[in-house]
Amino acid sequence: MFVDKATIRIKAGNGGDGAVSFHREKYVAAGGPDGGDGGKGGDVVFVVDDGMSSLIDFRYKRKFAAENGENGRGSRCSGKSAPDLVIKVPRGTLIREAETGRIMADMSDDLPHILAHGGRGGKGNQHFATSTRQIPRFAKPGFPGESFEITMELKLLADVGLVGFPNVGKSTLISVVSAAKPKIANYHFTTLTPVLGVVKLDDERSFVMADIPGLIEGASEGVGLGHEFLRHVERCRLIVHVLDVSGVEGRDPIEDFAAINRELANFSEALAECPQIVAANKADMADEAQITRLREAIEAEGYPFFTISAATTMGTHELMQAVAEKLATLPPVKVYEAQPISQEEWIRRVSDRHTFEVEVEDGVYYVDAVWLEPILRTVNMEDYSSLQYFQRVLRASGIIDKLEEMGIEEGDTVNIYGFEFDFVR
Ligand code: GDP
Ligand code: MG
Repeated sequence: MFVDKATIRIKAGNGGDGAVSFHREKYVAAGGPDGGDGGKGGDVVFVVDDGMSSLIDFRYKRKFAAENGENGRGSRCSGKSAPDLVIKVPRGTLIREAETGRIMADMSDDLPHILAHGGRGGKGNQHFATSTRQIPRFAKPGFPGESFEITMELKLLADVGLVGFPNVGKSTLISVVSAAKPKIANYHFTTLTPVLGVVKLDDERSFVMADIPGLIEGASEGVGLGHEFLRHVERCRLIVHVLDVSGVEGRDPIEDFAAINRELANFSEALAECPQIVAANKADMADEAQITRLREAIEAEGYPFFTISAATTMGTHELMQAVAEKLATLPPVKVYEAQPISQEEWIRRVSDRHTFEVEVEDGVYYVDAVWLEPILRTVNMEDYSSLQYFQRVLRASGIIDKLEEMGIEEGDTVNIYGFEFDFVR
């Protein structure tokens, strides 16, 4: 069974808690605070594994959590940070946040993508001694790790997609022009898994071709097999539309051509607009009249037309040359940009759970609100509009009201996890 969609939950590790501890030594009366910091929670990191060709691994295991950071200990010992949890996916996996549908990553490069950040460790009480508070009996808890439900969708990365009705010879074609060895059989739906093949030409040019399971009519409405596979052609730069010119199966290739194009158009505009080269296959079994009739119909619609026989390899070399030449004129394979959580969405999220604490210490207002951490990570404090956004978050969450209630004055210092700024109304 070919699995190319999966929904899982990922959870980064929480930061370890800071420790409350006091220095103890023989002959030393009152030791100072020496509670160490908690370690950072592990990130959840995604990487491409070219050995994988489906998302089957995610069918039964659906929860992935990185370890938490260790708690801090006495004697200023920091807790150990947890290792990252590395999740391998096949190349071309598109990852979205389930809740909003926003794209979190397109796993088509070789870079590691951190999709859930581990929480920072909490500070131990060694940091909280001040002139007025020499015995801090508290430390900070670790920050929670980020957690998301994500959907993964495999969208193969191929330059060329082979499309056509079942049995027209797509698998045979890819098997003679590349090293790919898909199943070939004289019955419908033999290709249940998309197969990728690298086509190498004599002049060192090469491209990746995908054999997509045969499309049947109605596939774009989810009827029967095919619809599920159309998404694998979506990134392709070029479609090679394979027809059976011999009509041995009692089908009319001109009708087939129109039917498949309707399916592509129903699926997406991008597919409808993808350039096509037409390959009239099984020419070894067709007569001149059949070939001429098809050629005229296809060329009248403006498509390049090639007569081939995948079985005897007649014309396949010329077809591959034409494909390479066309590819040279086309933009690269489509890669999707990650979409950050929108500012509006952040504000909605923080207003939903705006628990926080504010403490005043020597005229400085310390804000403790763990959910602010990811926002702090993304806000650029040097940038005016970014700061304004940050202000809106503080207002939406009720923090500003609380500060004012506590008597904050214009120009007083606000400290949020080490980041300090002057309060402005
Ligand atoms: P697919 O369903 O489009 O992948 O079609 P296959 O590649 O599995 O081929 C279906 C049948 O057509 C198989 O029995 C092939 O041997 C046969 N076939 C494929 N190409 C040719 C060809 O050029 N000439 C002839 N005579 N038969 C072919
Ligand atoms: Mg096939």
